[in-house]
Amino acid sequence: MNTILSSNLGFPRIGENREWKKALEAFWAGKLEESDFIKQIEEIRLNNLRLQQQKGIDLIPVGDFSLYDHVLDTSTMFGIVPKRFSYEGGVVPLSTYYAMARGTQGAAACEMTKWFNTNYHYIVPELKEVKPVLTVNKPLEAYREAKQKLGIEGKPVIIGLYTFLKLSKGYKSEQIDDLIHVFLPLYSRILAELSQEGVQWVQMDEPILVQSLSKSDISRIQHIYTTLAAAAPNLKLIVQTYFDSVEHYQDVVALPVHAIGLDFIHGLEQNLSNIQTHGFPANKVLGVGLIDGRNIWQADLEQKLEFLQGLAETVPYDRLLIQPSSSLLHVPVSTHKENKLDPILRDALAFAEQKLTELSILTKALIEGQEFIALELANNQKSLSALNTSSYRNKEVVQQEIAQLNSLPSARTSNFAKRRVIQEEKWQLPFLPTTTIGSFPQTIEVRNARKNWRNGKWSPEQYEQFIQEQIAEWIKLQEDLGLDVLVHGEFERTDMVEFFGEKLDGFAFTSNGWVQSYGSRCVKPPVIFGDVEFIQAMTVKETEYAQTLTDKPVKGMLTGPITILNWSFVRSDITREQVAYQIALALRHEVEALEQAGIEMIQVDEPALREGLPLKKKDWQAYLDWSVRAFRLSTATVRDSTQIHTHMCYCEFHDIIDSIRALDADVISIETSRSHGELIHSFEEHTYDQGIGLGVYDIHSPRVPSVNEMVEMIERALKVLEPELFWINPDCGLKTRGKDETIASLQVMVEAAKLFREKRAKPAS
Ligand code: GLN
Ligand code: ZN
Repeated sequence: MNTILSSNLGFPRIGENREWKKALEAFWAGKLEESDFIKQIEEIRLNNLRLQQQKGIDLIPVGDFSLYDHVLDTSTMFGIVPKRFSYEGGVVPLSTYYAMARGTQGAAACEMTKWFNTNYHYIVPELKEVKPVLTVNKPLEAYREAKQKLGIEGKPVIIGLYTFLKLSKGYKSEQIDDLIHVFLPLYSRILAELSQEGVQWVQMDEPILVQSLSKSDISRIQHIYTTLAAAAPNLKLIVQTYFDSVEHYQDVVALPVHAIGLDFIHGLEQNLSNIQTHGFPANKVLGVGLIDGRNIWQADLEQKLEFLQGLAETVPYDRLLIQPSSSLLHVPVSTHKENKLDPILRDALAFAEQKLTELSILTKALIEGQEFIALELANNQKSLSALNTSSYRNKEVVQQEIAQLNSLPSARTSNFAKRRVIQEEKWQLPFLPTTTIGSFPQTIEVRNARKNWRNGKWSPEQYEQFIQEQIAEWIKLQEDLGLDVLVHGEFERTDMVEFFGEKLDGFAFTSNGWVQSYGSRCVKPPVIFGDVEFIQAMTVKETEYAQTLTDKPVKGMLTGPITILNWSFVRSDITREQVAYQIALALRHEVEALEQAGIEMIQVDEPALREGLPLKKKDWQAYLDWSVRAFRLSTATVRDSTQIHTHMCYCEFHDIIDSIRALDADVISIETSRSHGELIHSFEEHTYDQGIGLGVYDIHSPRVPSVNEMVEMIERALKVLEPELFWINPDCGLKTRGKDETIASLQVMVEAAKLFREKRAKPAS
């Protein structure tokens, strides 16, 4: 019999019923004593381990669990606490830990940013002016706990030193060698202590290895792993990569460690071809990430076994670890509670728990033989083919339209120069028109109304009436404020993707498919499981109603195809590109329906365009090209006089500016107030010559800015952008703000615009 091990890389912390989130929030709110909190959290952590144990996973990760974020855990383990939190050394107290994550009265929270191309956000380590020390060996504690309480021989997971440094800030690139010098003894000590304790396997996460690295990066990595291997010669070190194929394959597999983990989902082709071309070292173990750690579909187990058979020609079975492509942190916990879903869909899903089962089945097949899992294979094939052959996935109307994609219009009738003249004539807007991004405050009242309607306390008519009252109130407010282009306020939407997903065909919503986004915040992405089809108008009713209340233009408000795609779990039987086109065509119906209803300014939001960029720069253009095409497919068929707006809530777009321009929106609004300088600078280099509104105030804070601040922002922008094309708007939607501060801020904004108009009317003598 072969010895083939299954291995997991990380497990969701949140618990099957988000117990983790609830515990954290209760503790923060002072409703849970620290000791009770610690007890509850321990129970969740042990439950997660127990589950993996029951599933028969051989190498169970320990130390991947966290009280907030595993990068923050690593920083605090090394005593890396910015000065402003007045930390005095030793083990970082829980209060300091949470102060860093969430901020306090006196100290701003640490920066948070996306973990590679996922929707998980980590706390960015600040290495400035700190002297790292090992305050506590967290992986060792985690290992001991699992062993003592559950008899698990765990595999400690540690963020690899190079990835950790590359994700940190507060140092200059030439200081990196000094930092390695300082950190290496600490990492060495962690490993030496683990080895002494009897630990066998240790997983060092180095996802940075999938990004482009220089020769000197590689030699630093070699230095790191040579040192670490020497520090703990008996440990089986795994250098684990994920989210894409490794760069510098030959150097990476030659690192002096016991095993290398590769992603055979997201970097499949390149990783595989590297193995086939260059082979794999005969003295090493290969971690085969073949169960998708980022998506929610059952794997095709037969196909996986075939894949493993093929792989075995280069790497024999007994040198494989059967594992997910990445930590399972990025998928929900279990499909158990999904009994509201259509069984055809539900049976084809695999969340974290089900993925563990898949790992066990595959491992068993390799060890005992495929005949021992015949039943499992049959069930798996049945579930997958039921979904694949279902009418959900095969909608003729959609597929016919997609088949004609090349003949469908993806460019406006006239170019911008011509549209601009026509639109100026039609709209007669003042100099520096003012508008907002779409949503107005979602007050408790609004949220309660929706709750009442969803749980049947209110009739649909009652709810609709309520929404109309909100719209009417805010149309009046916007008129009183003197805004030029109005919006209906999005009161009927909880979430900008969910709202459309609920109305389009091809989407499903899980009851419990939560995934951690940052800290205790979890999101429940919609599932795109079938062909996406437009069924009936989605936004016309509210927008049209709003327009009846005013003579000013009301902007229609849609979420764009790429944002809908990027914020959902997407079927994997066809490409993301194809799904994007399906959504785009469905949205085009909506755009046309709005236009027909007399809504002739339409905003198609794409806040998630940038975050969908692939990890490797060489893959950017292909993604941007099909994204732009999808956006244009949804917006191209309107009349020249109809004004298409788009919105993005970030400003680092100088590196994708050509694609932004290629969207060919008549007006774009973007966030800028938090990094105004940078943005203005980028417009000095790249001109933008279509309508553009740079956010003139930060909507993330309740503070009402002064007229002067806004005037200054506008003045600086007008130095680099054409004033006649410039719009005035806040950074983003206002749904998270309170009503009073919103009105006050918009008042200031309109006043600032007026000052500029007056100045232009009578230039200073
Ligand atoms: N129209 C949306 C709103 O105002 C845009 C939100 C976003 O950019 N994330 O809420
Ligand atoms: Zn935004």
